Amino acid sequence: MQYGQPARERAARRAIARAHRRRTLRIQRVAAAAALLAAAALVAFAVARSSGEDTRSAATAASASPGRPPPAPLPRPPAQVRGDAARRMRVPILIYHVVSRAPPGTPNPQLWVPEESFRSEMHALRDAHYHALTMAQLFAGWTRGAGLPRKPVVVSFDDGYRSDYTHARPVLTALGWPGVLNLELRNIGKGGITAREVKALIAAGWEIDSHTIDHPDLTTLGAADLRRELVGSRRALRRRFGVPADFFCYPAGRYDATVVGAVRAAGYRGATTTVEGYASGASPYTLSRIRVNGGDSAAALLARLRSER
Ligand SMILES: [Zn+2]
Repeated sequence: MQYGQPARERAARRAIARAHRRRTLRIQRVAAAAALLAAAALVAFAVARSSGEDTRSAATAASASPGRPPPAPLPRPPAQVRGDAARRMRVPILIYHVVSRAPPGTPNPQLWVPEESFRSEMHALRDAHYHALTMAQLFAGWTRGAGLPRKPVVVSFDDGYRSDYTHARPVLTALGWPGVLNLELRNIGKGGITAREVKALIAAGWEIDSHTIDHPDLTTLGAADLRRELVGSRRALRRRFGVPADFFCYPAGRYDATVVGAVRAAGYRGATTTVEGYASGASPYTLSRIRVNGGDSAAALLARLRSER
């Protein structure tokens, strides 16, 4: 075909190809300029918003600049108590599971807290002058006497349900508060939270801690399986999400002296149980927590925090 082609036709084809390349380049330049403008607009928007009370802007700015380490997306909780008083402070660590209305016939409906209840509980805590913090921030107070709020609270979520991302995250982000996700690795994707959503929680200032790979009763495992669940899950969280995963949560609250020793040996700095009550830095590997059930009202939660203190 090419051989018989007249020279004029070949020249015409080359001219068309040149014009096409020029047009493509022009389109690429226009697209690049538009992308730059959009990025600048996003930054301007984030800066404008961050001067107000709404802290969502910081998370927006963080997610808008991939490739750069994101700045701390949330304001630091106020440092009102320091030194020995911070080291001795007893702190409520709340336990949530699913933040959604339980469908009829759900086997464990108490594990489901409707989104509206969760929102009113968080707002009631805010109105009562609580400030949420991560386990890492709490431990900075307990171990180094770093500043803690006068009324700290940790809002923890066990297992890894999608509603932690879809329902709990927006409520906490609007308050400028972090959540703590105790993630069971097997839950990722298969009906639970997705890896992308876990990354979005991290970008929103959440702490991701280990709740094992398979959620077994750790007191029934041999040494090799115990190591895999503790060391393996921590390694996977670090590799997959780039987080320290310094804290651990016992599946179903099951632990004994062997399990506690293995948690410590795996390098975790602390671990949470389902024993009811305030947590104390004096027992970092058996931290009590306060379970919030679906039927609880915000007023009842505040009353429990007062009575269990
Ligand atoms: Zn669990």
